Amino acid sequence: MNNGGNDCQRISRRVALTGTALALGAAAIGTAVSQAAAQQKISQTDATYQAMPKGDRRCDRCINFQPPNACKFVQGDISPSGWCQLFSPKT
Ligand code: SF4
Repeated sequence: MNNGGNDCQRISRRVALTGTALALGAAAIGTAVSQAAAQQKISQTDATYQAMPKGDRRCDRCINFQPPNACKFVQGDISPSGWCQLFSPKT
């Protein structure tokens, strides 16, 4: 009784399933890491944030501003009339 073909098929299926599981695990870890990286913000000090505008440059005219008082890249409360060196004007 020669069932070598069946063993090979079983092993191949196991290898394929294991590879798929590893790939899914790696993808999940990659997603978690990128989400953690995306959630990291720099301090107001490092961004040279100030609660006052700099000329006509102010947070509520910046693409990074998240109303009512947050920023994509800078930690803490952000005033709509504040400014930092990461300012990028809305177009
Ligand atoms: S100026 Fe700086 S603190 Fe203000 S919204 Fe833009 S990036 Fe954020």
